[in-house]
Amino acid sequence: MTEVDHPASWYAATRDAAGARLPLAREEEADVAVVGGGFAGLHTARQLARQGKRVVLLERRRIGWGASGRNGGFVGPGYAQRSGALIERLGLDHARQLYAQSQRGVAIVRDAISELERPETLMGNGKLSVSRTDQGAGFADRTRKLAEQLGAAFEPWETSHVRGVLATARYHQAIHDPTSFHIHPLNFALALADDIERLGGAVHETTEAIELTRDGSFWRLRAAHGSVKAQHVVLAGNADLGAVMPRIARAVLPVATYVAVTGKLGPRLGEAIRWAGAISDTRRAGDYYRIVDGDRLLWGGRITTDTTEPRRLREMMRGDMLSVYPQLGEIDIAYAWPGIMGYAPHKMPQVGEIERGLWVCSAFGGHGVAQTAAGADAVAAGILGDPSRARLFAPFGTGWAGGAAGRAATQLAYWGLQMRDWWDEKRQAQNAETLRT
Ligand SMILES: Cc1cc2nc3c(=O)[nH]c(=O)nc-3n(C[C@H](O)[C@H](O)[C@H](O)COP(=O)(O)OP(=O)(O)OC[C@H]3O[C@@H](n4cnc5c(N)ncnc54)[C@H](O)[C@@H]3O)c2cc1C
Repeated sequence: MTEVDHPASWYAATRDAAGARLPLAREEEADVAVVGGGFAGLHTARQLARQGKRVVLLERRRIGWGASGRNGGFVGPGYAQRSGALIERLGLDHARQLYAQSQRGVAIVRDAISELERPETLMGNGKLSVSRTDQGAGFADRTRKLAEQLGAAFEPWETSHVRGVLATARYHQAIHDPTSFHIHPLNFALALADDIERLGGAVHETTEAIELTRDGSFWRLRAAHGSVKAQHVVLAGNADLGAVMPRIARAVLPVATYVAVTGKLGPRLGEAIRWAGAISDTRRAGDYYRIVDGDRLLWGGRITTDTTEPRRLREMMRGDMLSVYPQLGEIDIAYAWPGIMGYAPHKMPQVGEIERGLWVCSAFGGHGVAQTAAGADAVAAGILGDPSRARLFAPFGTGWAGGAAGRAATQLAYWGLQMRDWWDEKRQAQNAETLRT
């Protein structure tokens, strides 16, 4: 595979036929030009094309090449920033509206799957967020109260319930969200791009937007062999935007995470994990996983600001799986790949109009499959004349993420938080041991 093709992954191995799309090779005019062929750009372009706007989307490599075609596939409400922190910072009413916007994102993804007539891209329902430390007696009440405050559907599960479906002593209580589901993200991205074209939009691959300038009351977006003149431009390039808008590129910090998929494990997998939905643990750099293809384990985890791929990635991922489910025994890792998430310092997406006709829809962090749809919905509504949903994101600006110094500071913060998770778990285990003796 060339560098521009989808990287080797289980998704690429099971992707739909996807012939390369032609690069931009002339001057085009559009109502809206979109930079980035990930979910943020695709949803924005599709929603506007559905409303009759002429859209042109430019993607540097392939549709779904970035995070959107290689993630865990979990679709659920909420944001990378925790809801409690949002309530504290913005007040309940604002936090509740932001949560509702993320629920709207979940609904957009679910509806799109049915509108595109691709039911098989939806691979399972429900999500468990499991805790690796005992949350104590007040857990159920706290969870129900937060759900009520946010207008959320999630509910508490006690430890016995969790261990009834997940055969590991690592986990205690969980939050179950029945509205979440999981998908084949690459095929979903490819289906969105097909639909944009069906609606009359243009999608160009291997086309990097390299310069953005004002052209009277329009914008001109240039690529190597052509340009697009448009009234609106949407920057949806995640952590990889490059020269087209350095200010926005600098505001998003690239953070790597990894996914691995095992070979076929047979019945032992279903004996360990008796749950067809998605699972993640609540640590800052927690594990997230699900069963795919009947009896393969798709496992994601780890975060680091070092974006080079570790040499021993397969061994690392195998070790992470066995640390939770040692009974799986010998595991063959059939695929393992890295991906880059884009984080703003405030852990919230950057969504809104930053200059007249210039929009940003980026920095969806580790929680972006539904949130990109939510951000795209807000941006598309803004372009169509209703700025109210984009205003919800206004407190989260596009400030500098700090370049190399920012990366170092973020890595230190992650290590600190990971140490805290590790210490909490260890302390509880020691306390339990003391009580037993
Ligand atoms: C390994 C991994 C696991 C994850 N798991 C989950 C999960 O299970 N659930 C969840 O909700 N979120 C998950 N996320 C996060 C989620 O995938 C992202 O937040 C989301 O896909 C971001 O979409 P995007 O469109 O903003 O970015 P991307 O998908 O990265 O798309 C941006 C695109 O823009 C293109 N581009 C950039 N600059 C230019 C330019 N100048 N010109 C042309 N094209 C350009 C890039 O080539 C890229 O294809 C995960 C992320 C990773 C990496």
